[in-house]
Amino acid sequence: MAPSLETESAEDVLANPLGKKPQLVAPEPEHCPGPESEQAGTADSCAGCPNQQICASAPKGPDPDIGVITSRLGGVRHKILVLSGKGGVGKSTLTAQLAQSLAAANPDVTVGVMDTDICGPSIPKMLGVEAETIHVSASGWSPVWAADNLAVMSIQFMLPNRDDAIIWRGPKKNGLIKQFLKDVEWGELDFLLVDTPPGTSDEHLSVNTFLRDSGIAGAVVVTTPQEVSLLDVRKELDFCRKAGIRVLGLVENMAGFVCPKCAHATDIFLATTGGGRALADEMGVPFLGSVPLDPRLGMACDYGESFFDSFPDSPAVAALKQVVKGMAAQMGLNPDDVVPGAAG
Ligand code: SF4
Repeated sequence: MAPSLETESAEDVLANPLGKKPQLVAPEPEHCPGPESEQAGTADSCAGCPNQQICASAPKGPDPDIGVITSRLGGVRHKILVLSGKGGVGKSTLTAQLAQSLAAANPDVTVGVMDTDICGPSIPKMLGVEAETIHVSASGWSPVWAADNLAVMSIQFMLPNRDDAIIWRGPKKNGLIKQFLKDVEWGELDFLLVDTPPGTSDEHLSVNTFLRDSGIAGAVVVTTPQEVSLLDVRKELDFCRKAGIRVLGLVENMAGFVCPKCAHATDIFLATTGGGRALADEMGVPFLGSVPLDPRLGMACDYGESFFDSFPDSPAVAALKQVVKGMAAQMGLNPDDVVPGAAG
């Protein structure tokens, strides 16, 4: 039998995502009122319990910052998480492109992007605002505007040197994400896209916990067509199910290479087991579409240019618009209002 790596069950972690439950030195006795309850350590039934001192001194009650976050995000209509099971599937690129697609399609729509990939923030570079810094005022931190209707917030803006490595443990990451949510003055936004690191780690638990009361519209989950990526995305979908996050849909990224000269499409990551569409069917989640790899997209990201403005005829632009329309439909919005004029 393989050795177990689990010290806590998934249910326990999700019930106590930020690790606020005190570290007990003995099992909870039968009549325990709950180590996180208001009475912990002081109730009659706590008398003589070896955990009494720990429970009595542990923080009690709900996190008051969650109320602050809920009020701060009161002007944000739709909060969307962008998730992937593994790195290298183009999640941050897709987040940036979805944001640009939403913003470019309708100037009346205001979009925000929050980059929670603390160890590898790449959104500012992709949206052409890498050299910007944030402004701090009495009312909070102002995001950086990549376009008139596209706001960005990332840890990248706070680094004195963009090549500095971020070597932080979980609690510090949680603290920064909480600060982002509490202190950034997003104002009125139609959409806030939250770019997360790959996998299911501290950042995901923090974002889900802090945003729960203010409402998450759902998650867009990104994969590539090959089985090695699909394997990991199954875990991501399982995380969403366990954490109660609605999946708006699965996007298959890098689905074919489009030659920028002749527009011929070639599969580079073969969908040997059916790709994203088959997985979406198997897992019972919507399939939002396949986005081909266009080398001009990588170039636009490197230069922080809008791919939508520079290459409006790319098959990748058409595919991204369809993904946004599918996402809008899943949120109960009229896709033609969100992306006016796109066929399909
Ligand atoms: S001290 Fe009280 S709350 Fe804490 S474990 Fe013991 S019985 Fe439960």
